[in-house]
Amino acid sequence: MKVTIHRGSRQIGGSCIEIAAGRSRIILDAGLPLETGMELPKGRKEVLDLNVPGLFAPGPPVDAVLLSHAHPDHSGLLASRRAEIPVCMTGATSRILTSLYLFARGDWIGERRTLPEHEPVVIEDCTVTAMPVDHSIAGACAFLIEAEGKRILYSGDLRLHGRKPGMAKRVVEVARRGHLDLLIIEGTRLCPADAEATSDHYLRTEKEVEVRLVELIRTTGGLVLACFGPTNIDRLVSFFRAAVNTGRQLALDAYASHVLHMLKGIGRGGLPDPMKCDKIRLLPGSGATPAKSGGGTKAFLDRMRRKIVMTEEIYANPNRFVAIARPSSLGRDFPHGLPPNTLAVYSMWSGYRDKAEWRDFTAAVDATGGRVEECHTSGHIHPDDLRSLIGDLNPAHVVPVHTGFPEMFEGLWPNVRRAEDGVPFDA
Ligand SMILES: [Zn+2]
Repeated sequence: MKVTIHRGSRQIGGSCIEIAAGRSRIILDAGLPLETGMELPKGRKEVLDLNVPGLFAPGPPVDAVLLSHAHPDHSGLLASRRAEIPVCMTGATSRILTSLYLFARGDWIGERRTLPEHEPVVIEDCTVTAMPVDHSIAGACAFLIEAEGKRILYSGDLRLHGRKPGMAKRVVEVARRGHLDLLIIEGTRLCPADAEATSDHYLRTEKEVEVRLVELIRTTGGLVLACFGPTNIDRLVSFFRAAVNTGRQLALDAYASHVLHMLKGIGRGGLPDPMKCDKIRLLPGSGATPAKSGGGTKAFLDRMRRKIVMTEEIYANPNRFVAIARPSSLGRDFPHGLPPNTLAVYSMWSGYRDKAEWRDFTAAVDATGGRVEECHTSGHIHPDDLRSLIGDLNPAHVVPVHTGFPEMFEGLWPNVRRAEDGVPFDA
């Protein structure tokens, strides 16, 4: 098998990897580099920079793109691919892409195939197995690719400290059924000690986030705003449980409710059904029409609107609610301003807080006499967990991707193969 890291050997985001075996060519992820701000510039220059024959450029078409998860640094270039190339993913990722398209200005991905979990699927000369992993978006998976007697595992983005640590154990179990020739694995959190600025104050685990959320909510008799990305289903569950444990209801917007609605049937029995659960309400601003129609959105919103919480109800009893919020939603959901002593819990990557819109958001919260508190844990594996996971997988070679510091893998495993973007090598 020949492997080419088209992008990602020395950067976080924008991953695109090619595996060629026999007559098959398979692409793993096609994402936007972080420096694009996760939006494709006019003229789509980034696509041209990524010269993958048969994916964007002319040439015999690749057989499939395997999408590890729906974050734009892995999926953001898919809409620019040649239309005949199918994108394969887990059922949960497919559903999240639908929510993103309908409610969050996501791209229309075109032809998709849903892969069963843990079941080998033949794509031309390759056998592919999708295995769910824990990440800060539901539906994330690793891929085992087998061909020509070799086995390659691609981790996608993952962590061991979320709500589902058992997923990694299952990946190890499947990977260890044979000799693992190559492990292509993310190292987002690997960095020299002096560079660890933004994540220093993050909590270690998702469980710690939930405990801290309860503590924070108990410090206020005012409204609590929950600032997080709704596709981070672990975090949505943490806010839901913390709200219920403090006697509050969780008020979601149309987008977050739709994500929960789409995922409720996907092997995740523990997720509340937003249409049925009396602890979940719909924010008043969500009465507006969704960004796009179709996909049953009208019926969904008609049913959700029965659970709408009116602004007056929140103003009268702010201590009964935890409400999802982002800078663009404040004017819609709180047209008369936020109630006094509002506590906003910021639960995402700290870097966004430097943006003007988040600075304005903080000022609006401060003006109520309240405050903004950060409470977060990373979506990416801790360096010590990375070392133990690689040890458990026991690959012949490790290829670092999705990292700013591939050289730091040298301290984790004896056989590290440092790839260079665009240069093929044998597995
Ligand atoms: Zn990523």
